[in-house]
This record gives sequence, C-alpha cells and structure tokens, in this order.
Amino acid sequence: MRTMLSLPALVLFVSQLSIAQVDPRWKPNDPDRPLPPVIEAGTASTQDAPGRPPSDAIVLFGGKDLSQWAGENGMDAKWKVADGYMEVVPHSGYIHTRQPFGDCQLHVEFAEPAPPVGEGQGRGNSGVFLMGLYEVQVLDSYQSKTYADGQASAVYGQFPPQVNASRAPGQWQTYDIIFHAPRFEKDGKVLRPARITVLHNGVLAQDNVELSGPTAHHERPPYKPTPDKLPLSLQDHSNPVRFRNIWIRELGEGQ
Ligand code: MG
Repeated sequence: MRTMLSLPALVLFVSQLSIAQVDPRWKPNDPDRPLPPVIEAGTASTQDAPGRPPSDAIVLFGGKDLSQWAGENGMDAKWKVADGYMEVVPHSGYIHTRQPFGDCQLHVEFAEPAPPVGEGQGRGNSGVFLMGLYEVQVLDSYQSKTYADGQASAVYGQFPPQVNASRAPGQWQTYDIIFHAPRFEKDGKVLRPARITVLHNGVLAQDNVELSGPTAHHERPPYKPTPDKLPLSLQDHSNPVRFRNIWIRELGEGQ
C-alpha cells in the first residue's frame, strides 16, 4: 500500500527541500555526475586595497561609480564617491540596487567614521537591508555599547551576533552574508522564513538564523508576501559610513 503524505507533512517536506540533502539520483563517487562550473576565485582585501571579487560575482560597487544604485523614488543615488569608496551623505536617503536580488552570497566592506562621533545607535549607524526588508546592522561597535540585537552584525531587533568582531573606526571591515529569501504559498502563508548567515571580519556572527519577519525598531512585524527578489538597500542613518568592494552572487534553489 502506498503512503500518502498529509498536507502538513507535505509542506514540511517541501520546506525542507531548501536545505541541501544528498541527491539519491547519484551513486557515491559517480563518474557520470555533472561537475560544478569552474570559476576564478577572488582575492582577499587588505586595509590598503580591496580584493578581487570571484569571477562569477556581480559587482555592485567597484570603487568608481554608483551606476548599480538608485536613491529614493528611483532618482540617482546621492552618496559621495571618492578614492575607491562611497560614503553616506547624511539625510540624502537610503540607496538601493537597480537590480532585485533574493537568495544570494553578498560581500560588503565598510569603514566607520574616524575619529568616532556619537554614542550607541548614533555612532556610525548604517545597515545592509537584504531585499530592502531584513537589516544586518552596520554600527561602530568597537569599544562602544548599545543593546545586543542592535550592534554590528546583529539581525536588527532579532538576533545579536555570536561575538563582537568589530574593528576600530577607520579600519575596513567585511561582511560575508548568505541569505535565503522567504517563500510564500499562494494564499500568502509563510512556506519558509528568511535565513541569514553572517561572517563579520571572517568570524561567524550569525549562523543560519531564521527571521521572524522584516526587521524593525521596537517591534517584530510579521511577514507579508513578497516576490522572491527585491532590491538590496543600504541605510542612511545620518552617519558618514563608508563602503567599498560590494559584490553579490545569486544562488539557485538548494544551494
Ligand atoms: Mg542601521
């Protein structure tokens, strides 16, 4: 007799497909199994110079211009570009990519204002907003205190980072982010929530955490159905934070 999966079991099964599992179509060490594409790996950044992105990455900011970015209402981004970096121009607004992204590997480098100005959330605050909705906090958390789920590499208002791996103001810092967008059923129910992994300066800060919904200040709003891809944005929180060497790799289902 064949077993039928109940609907909840089926939903659970489908949602688990997002986690890579051994593919039963291939025997162990099967010589017929297709080989992955060959790419050229990038190079690591130093304080003096940004590294080279992997050959299959989309470069969102290579140090010269903001052509991949737009300001509010699709206007040109008004942030400053100089000497290989871009810098938040306070009160000029968030900027977002012209292209939408969902599941991705994202590399971002940032430097906090030196000498530091302000305290807590007012000290070098910006943010990387996946899909414009889910913030990985950018903040000067070097010898500077704020609430745990609001410091650098926190998923804002939801997950403090595992460690505070912040470098001093003026130093270049890196975020390497793996993001899986949420998926929704046709009726709008959450099929599976968004998930984020963050390495801050090469150290694991967020380990595949499941978000409760979009990030927000003093609240945890529920998910609302969205497309699988939306523009990525960077926050203007009125502090002149710098960014350089931003690149992204789109991920396929199951990766
Ligand atoms: Mg922020």
